[in-house]
Amino acid sequence: MVIAHGIRTLGVVGAGQMGSGIALVSALRAKVQVVLHDRSKEQIEKGLEFIDKLLVKDVGKGRLTSLQSKEIRERISVVDSLDGLRDVDMVVEAVSESLPLKRQIFSSFSQILRPDAILASNTSSISITKIAAAAVPEGVSPAGDRGKKAAGRFTGLHFFNPVPVMKLVELIPAMQTSQETLDRAKAFAIACGKEVTTCKDVPGFVANALLMPYINEVIYCMAMPLTLNPPLSLPDDFITSAQSIGLDTCLAIQKTLYEGTYDSKYRPSGLLERMVDAGWFGKKNGKGFYEYEG
Ligand code: NAD
Repeated sequence: MVIAHGIRTLGVVGAGQMGSGIALVSALRAKVQVVLHDRSKEQIEKGLEFIDKLLVKDVGKGRLTSLQSKEIRERISVVDSLDGLRDVDMVVEAVSESLPLKRQIFSSFSQILRPDAILASNTSSISITKIAAAAVPEGVSPAGDRGKKAAGRFTGLHFFNPVPVMKLVELIPAMQTSQETLDRAKAFAIACGKEVTTCKDVPGFVANALLMPYINEVIYCMAMPLTLNPPLSLPDDFITSAQSIGLDTCLAIQKTLYEGTYDSKYRPSGLLERMVDAGWFGKKNGKGFYEYEG
């Protein structure tokens, strides 16, 4: 049986690496109208530049005609406040990996959006159940019918980086998520050309619970080569991957694993913390363990 997602207009909050990728695949594959919001004008510009570059590349490679590319681009519009998302059928949040930030956004959505709109977070690691609780309007009991319905429309929907390339999406139900929300969010991700796997709401879900501890251990080892003779070669792929994800995001995920499991084996590496303290996030802002151009 094919389940209809019923989404005509999608809101995307956060126009960073993930939000701009989600906006593009939604307009390109699912063919929905996309309304994009970011608190930073610079990030909106960067996000739209990324979308334009990929569309030009698709035309160059003969995967799209110029007309198709123009139609796809015209499906994406920008608004400068959350209020501009008032009429969307679904929203995917892709702001920085911070629980207070995400809770604040979904608390605003509980007032702004239509009661039948689906809410999804692209978080890499944070408890979906904790974010869902913020979707219950203030003063409403989370255990009553209204509260259960409000949180029931929320789910985790975790796209991978880079979104246009990576096939997998993790669908993570909160304790509160309704079956209808799950079915529709899954159908939407499939319409975006993705394969969907359902995961439990545990820190890091499946992919990051496996990947991030490797990255963290490799960063722990980065201090060592100078003291070893001959130097050991470190698994460079993990460092490259960490810098594509964003060292700030890696640290936030590692902290969620550490705090969510009470297990000291997940303690974030001090070097990772210092890189983030210095504001060196990797590819997205030009400096991490490597330097990036442009
Ligand atoms: P990013 O740093 O590239 O982008 C985050 C964006 O959020 C920025 O443009 C920032 O201006 C915006 N933002 C922050 N606060 C905001 C607010 N209050 N309102 C509107 N916009 C706001 O980060 P990213 O890599 O795109 O990650 C976004 C989310 O996706 C995070 O939750 C992250 O864990 C998750 N994620 C990241 C990856 C990855 O590989 N980077 C993969 C999967 C999921």
